[in-house]
Amino acid sequence: MKNFTDFQSQLPILEVDRLEAAFEIDGEWHNAVDNISFHVKPKQVIGVVGESGCGKSVMSLSLMQLLPKGIGKIRNGEIKFNGRHLEKLNEKEMNKVRGKDIAMIFQEPMTSLNPVFTIGFQLAEALHNHFDISKQDARRKVIHLLDRVGISRPEKVVDEYPHQLSGGMRQRVMIAMAIACEPKLLIADEPTTALDVTVQAQILELLQELQTANDMSIILITHDLGVVAETCHEVIVMYAGEIVEQADVITLFECPKHPYTELLMKSIPRMDQEEEVLASIKGIVPSLKNMPRTGCKFVDRCPKAMEECRTITPQLEESSPGHGVKCLLYESSWEQEGMKAK
Ligand code: SF4
Repeated sequence: MKNFTDFQSQLPILEVDRLEAAFEIDGEWHNAVDNISFHVKPKQVIGVVGESGCGKSVMSLSLMQLLPKGIGKIRNGEIKFNGRHLEKLNEKEMNKVRGKDIAMIFQEPMTSLNPVFTIGFQLAEALHNHFDISKQDARRKVIHLLDRVGISRPEKVVDEYPHQLSGGMRQRVMIAMAIACEPKLLIADEPTTALDVTVQAQILELLQELQTANDMSIILITHDLGVVAETCHEVIVMYAGEIVEQADVITLFECPKHPYTELLMKSIPRMDQEEEVLASIKGIVPSLKNMPRTGCKFVDRCPKAMEECRTITPQLEESSPGHGVKCLLYESSWEQEGMKAK
């Protein structure tokens, strides 16, 4: 069960301000994350939702300074963790932050675990990177961590190799690795997508348990609004590299405003809905090379698009306190002209 602490009064641990991350394609740089700002408070769980290609993963890799060198870079903006500018750190300084202050888990644990080393070796390595700890103590701690993430027979699993474990167990190992140094912020990028439904629920429950026990904040990246409803306090909806809507989870689910969010909502199966066919969003997210330069980036897929949407670029504006929407239908200048959405 989510605990809605009073986040208002707390100072953020992570502040992202006007972040732009770009990739080079055919000699030109294109923003995959375009001018996004948000913050994360202690113990807060923020969901970042949107379809594949909306910039969610690029955003999380940018926070960790893990964009592929040479073809990806942070072009602009600030990322402050506990007041420290991460975008100004060198690789050695950033290595100290990764794992210890901010940790990350990915969708497919097999790509993050090294197949030629035992689980115990890989988890111990994460500990040795940040602590002066003996081999015996590291092994003891690894077994404790495996136990903590719900792996049965941890004394045996510690000496096994990744291919000997199921997908769900491998994801538990990745979570153990991520929490090994008790980070204050965990970035979980589609952590349950590759798993079957029952295991997905178990992994989400585990993340919630650890979040409460460790007083950790989580940025949960997912395309699944159902997961967000279950686990998050605050939600950021991304489309084509931009934040198009942002609100606390109750407001977003009770009163979604952006046409893209509305369509995402209609694509979640609901118990109280008789219709068997779920809505799908026509078309695809524009590629980086084909991104509209002016106007709203959602225009070609938006059922409420107006002519002006092709020429006027909407701004993310507060439609009510704490509820930001980036759509001309909700802009104050339009309200004055009597054109605001009812
Ligand atoms: Fe749709 Fe226009 Fe709003 Fe974009 S600005 S979401 S095209 S109504």
